[in-house]
This record gives sequence, structure tokens and C-alpha cells, in this order.
Amino acid sequence: ARADITYFGAGPAALPTDVLETAAQALLDYQGTGLGIAEHSHRSELAAKIINEAKADLATYLDFSPEQYEVLFMQGGGTGEFAASMYNLVGAWVSRQHAAVQKELGEGAAADEAQVLAALRQRVESGLKVDYIVTGSWSLKAYQEAVRLLGPEYVNLVCDARTINDGKFGKIPDESTWKLSKDAAYVYFCDNETVDGVEFPNFPKILEPKEDGTGPIVVSDMSSNILSRRIPVNNYSLLFFGAQKNLGCTGVAVAILKKTFLPPTLSQPSPALLRKLALPIPPIVLQYEIIAKNNSLYNTLSIFDVYIAGQVLKKLLATFPNGVDGQQALAEKKAELIYSALEAHPEAYKIVPDKSARSKMNICFRVIKGGNVDEAEKAFLKESTAINLTGLKGHRSVGGIRASNYNSIPLEGAEKLANFIHEFAKA
Ligand code: PMP
Repeated sequence: ARADITYFGAGPAALPTDVLETAAQALLDYQGTGLGIAEHSHRSELAAKIINEAKADLATYLDFSPEQYEVLFMQGGGTGEFAASMYNLVGAWVSRQHAAVQKELGEGAAADEAQVLAALRQRVESGLKVDYIVTGSWSLKAYQEAVRLLGPEYVNLVCDARTINDGKFGKIPDESTWKLSKDAAYVYFCDNETVDGVEFPNFPKILEPKEDGTGPIVVSDMSSNILSRRIPVNNYSLLFFGAQKNLGCTGVAVAILKKTFLPPTLSQPSPALLRKLALPIPPIVLQYEIIAKNNSLYNTLSIFDVYIAGQVLKKLLATFPNGVDGQQALAEKKAELIYSALEAHPEAYKIVPDKSARSKMNICFRVIKGGNVDEAEKAFLKESTAINLTGLKGHRSVGGIRASNYNSIPLEGAEKLANFIHEFAKA
């Protein structure tokens, strides 16, 4: 039964049972309206209320200013955001260059259109760069998507973590070795690598804004650690995450975008201009400007998914009225329990990532007890499943064991796993 199981799957992840109970009722009949939440119009007042409350609660919980940051509910998952982040921030770069060129050549009618275009083309050729810090499978995928959509000539690999760790992910290269472009359109990293168990311990120093407020345009994929730790939101231009780990169920992704990337401060370039510059034109559902203008309702949004996310946020805020710090302390405590159980038996387990980059959300290790890793891991999975600790199989691309320690894993669940880790090693 559900109540007996602790599910450590990497995503979709377990959701709080009381949230699902409330949601089950809401699916049948939302607030006595006679219609379920998935049947109501996305343009109804009740849908708007669900969206607006979820946006406000997210800002309260993560402690960022809704005046400075827009929350967008996107479709296409985390993978869709690989493309969206690229399109929108390259678009922003083009718009800024366009304005600069126009200013240089004289405002309005004074600037000859062909001249502007030629100058702009030159800037694209010599100056357009997007920077990717590759520390695991997901940042690698995002990098590859940028190469595929934008073209390799514009995409700079800042570092590839495999080169310092025998061809495998598991360490974060020292910032002093990063090859950042000068004035990149953005710098991209994945804060927590779900497959490889690698998490940035802190916001990278080298990407921090300078005293005068200028600094790199930073984007991060926080799909698998959002809501688990305090983040310096002000250091980012864009954060995104799929909902299906710490926020809710599969079906929506969230983008938190600095409002200076939206009108009236900045408008995306026209498709005609992008075509002339031979740069890709974003699908309209991936354009933040369009989604923002429509409060995430440009097209039909799954209000059910937003509702679940909203309920998870309300529960978090009820449990931790001061926001994310309380959850962070709990996440650290749970992770510590599991890692120290593993460390206590070096003859039985090998933790995959380097200590300096260990994820608090996705705990990846190999079972080396007895020398036959394959057999030992099979036994580990079989025995853990038998006592209702499930979902521990590592990602198919890397194998091993992965315990995803998301917010819905209670302290007792982490304790139970830590005990099993001890018992299995000793048996
Ligand atoms: N980024 C990270 C860090 C992820 O863990 C995942 C999915 N597990 C993705 C992106 C891709 O998300 P989606 O499957 O929603 O496209």
C-alpha cells in the first residue's frame, strides 16, 4: 500500500499524499462547482486564481520579488526549456545589439536599413556566443540542443567536467579553468545533475554580479533541486525547472525570468529580422514575451498541473512559514544520514561523485560489496524493494543506485534507507 512505501524515484517523484487526496476530490468536483479542475476552462476566474496564487506562493517561498521577476508556466518540460532559454536570450542579445547599432548609426529614419542590417550581421558573426558549463548529462543535453538549433559556431563549451574525471561526470572543474566568452549572450549551467548526482555547492563565484550591478547573464536548470535550498535569485536572469520532482506532477515547467528581459524594457526581435540574420525563429509557445503577456494562458495550459504545484507550495509554506530555509535544513539532514551510512562502509559502497560536488537530491552510488558489482546491486535492489524502499535503480545510462532525496521523502524515509544501507553492508 501507498502508506508503506518510500519511493526514491528521480522523477516523476512521489507527491505528498494529502495533496493527492485533495487533488483527487478536485478532479471530480472542484469547490462544489459540479465540474472537475481538469474540465474547467483555463480562462475561467478560478483558473486565474490558481495561477496567480501559485506564482505568489513560489515568490514567497523562494524569497524573490514578483516586481522584478516574472513566473511563467511553460509546456514542453525541462527539455522544452533547453530550447526556450536559448531562443529568448539570443533574441534579447539581438535586440540589444540592434538598439546599439541604431544608436551608433543615428536614430530612426537617419539610419539606413541596409546599413543597420550589415552592421548587425557583423556583430552576430563576430560577437554572438552562448556559453555552456557541462557538468552532467542534462547540461550536456542542453548544450547539444543549443548546437542543434543555433549552430556550433555560436556555442561555446566553457568546460566539460568529464575531462578532469577519467571521462566521467562527477566533479565540477575549478572556475579558474572555465573558458568563458567575453560578453556571452548568456552563461548556462545545471545546478543539480539528476543522473550523475552532481550539484553546485554554491552559486559560482565567477558568475556573481559585480558591485555596479553588471555581470554575466546567467541561466540555470534547477529541475531537480528547486525548492530544496535557498538560491540567490537576483544573480540569475533566468531559472527554469520541470515540475515533476519537487514541485508537482509532469506536465508543466516553470521559468522565473528577470522582468528586464520583457517589454517595456526589451522586446524580442521580429521573425523577419531573425530570418535576415540567419538566426532561428522560436516557436510561439516558447516565447517568454508571449507567455508573460498572457499570464501563461497563450494557449491551453493544464490547470490541474498548476493546481497540484500550488497545493505543494501551500503545504511547504504551512510547514516552513519562513520559506525555503527550513526545507533546506531538512534536506541537508536527510542527505547527511544517507551519505554517512554509505561512507561508514567503504568496502561495500562507492559514492559516485566527488565529495565537493555531491548532490543533496540525487544520491548516486555503486554497490561493490563482494567484488561483483552487478550481482551486489541486484541484491541491493531486491532486498530494499522487499522492505518497501523503492525506485532506487540508477539511470539507465550510468547504472548503479540512485536515491532521490526530494522534498516528499520524510525524515523517517531517509532513516529507513540509511538503516538498510548499514544492514546490507554488514549482512
Ligand atoms: N533537466 C534536469 C536537471 C532533469 O532532471 C530533467 C529530467 N529528469 C530534465 C532537464 C528534462 O526534463 P523533461 O523530462 O521534463 O523534459
